[in-house]
Amino acid sequence: MEDSSEKRKVKSITSLWSRIGHKASVRLGSGSVPAQYRRMFGRKNNSVNASRCVIVEVLAIAVVLGQIIGVVGGLVDVIEHVRGTALVASYVFVTTLCVLLFLYFLVKRRFIRGSRFTLALNHVSVVVCMAYVVFMSILIYPMTVSVVVYVLGLFSFAMFFYSPIRESIVVFGLSQAVYVTLLAVYRSGQYEISQVIFVTTACAVLAWIGSRILYRVRAGAFMSEVTQAELQHMSLTDPLLGISNRRKFDIAMQFSWNYCRREQKPISLVMIDIDHFKHFNDRYGHSEGDECLRMVTKAIGAMIHRESDELARVGGEELAFMLPLTALEDAVDIMERARTAVLELGIPNPDSPFSVITVSAGVACTMPGIGKRIESPQELYEAADNALYHAKKTGRNRICIA
Ligand code: GH3
Ligand code: MG
Ligand code: MG
Repeated sequence: MEDSSEKRKVKSITSLWSRIGHKASVRLGSGSVPAQYRRMFGRKNNSVNASRCVIVEVLAIAVVLGQIIGVVGGLVDVIEHVRGTALVASYVFVTTLCVLLFLYFLVKRRFIRGSRFTLALNHVSVVVCMAYVVFMSILIYPMTVSVVVYVLGLFSFAMFFYSPIRESIVVFGLSQAVYVTLLAVYRSGQYEISQVIFVTTACAVLAWIGSRILYRVRAGAFMSEVTQAELQHMSLTDPLLGISNRRKFDIAMQFSWNYCRREQKPISLVMIDIDHFKHFNDRYGHSEGDECLRMVTKAIGAMIHRESDELARVGGEELAFMLPLTALEDAVDIMERARTAVLELGIPNPDSPFSVITVSAGVACTMPGIGKRIESPQELYEAADNALYHAKKTGRNRICIA
């Protein structure tokens, strides 16, 4: 019981934190983006937020428009050609299906986030629906309407417009070949095929230009959002170790402090420093020193089990490990495992009495607002730092409690 409410607390602090603090360190949305969209945004391996992608919007709007034109045209026609009722009914049915399909993808954002298979399935269903709609429009309507339906169909198949020009030409060429063949078979002798080709090409080129303009505007806004998020992320991350920097740590600390005060829960802080690191640097050089720092950070970082825990670099080879909703003995236990993990890395440091790289740590814990001795995040920081100083003075490779 106690355990589950504790878990709930951790969850709520995590989600709160993700809403406030982590906004700054966005991982650029969830789900990775299929290659063609990544290429579209000129990115190699970043995840981009699906909701930012323009394709779905354009796709849905264009298809819905196309369908509305088709359905209205169909209803007008029905009065004159009773024979066509069955055709129109099936047309309306597929059209509705088509719209529902898109609304479903739109709501679920499946179009962008889906697996390769889902994506292929989406594309195929779009092609089939559009082919049917175009085919029916050729049978039922005059040429002008069928051209409009065809171009809207093409437009709605937005991959065409958001693809590089060569792919666009292939898609356009294939679709036009199918369209013209259908026209030739079912409306032979009624229209000049060359005129049809001219009209459809002109319409497609206009649609292509329009979509490029739209794309540039939307993608520009999207990219500036991504850049901003990246800059924000950079300003809060240590470039060498890839963990939070002091700025992020201070924000997280204040946030967790307030949370623990409201919930009347303990918060622990561990200050960690590598022992005799100067000797290591002097002997092996700075780049080996950097690598050693990375390894030590990784070993300590492996102890993070909650999203609300925060490991940050607060000095040259000093780390701060904040553990909200964690009692003193638990924090000491976690740090003891971290200390052992670093020791077991066995990174040689011949000038240290331990002959390998070790860490010292100071742990402080308080109940914000209740513990009278420590009354602010700064005081907690100082208490942990003093405990670390004590650990250094009493022999290193150990943990002291404030
Ligand atoms: P102790 O903490 O055990 O008292 O001894 P120490 O030698 O580790 O202490 P001190 O704080 O005097 O030295 C810290 C050294 O850490 C100084 C510097 O050479 C090294 N250092 C700090 N930042 C970096 C860094 O980013 N990369 C590398 N390679 N070394 C760093
Ligand atoms: Mg040191
Ligand atoms: Mg130091």
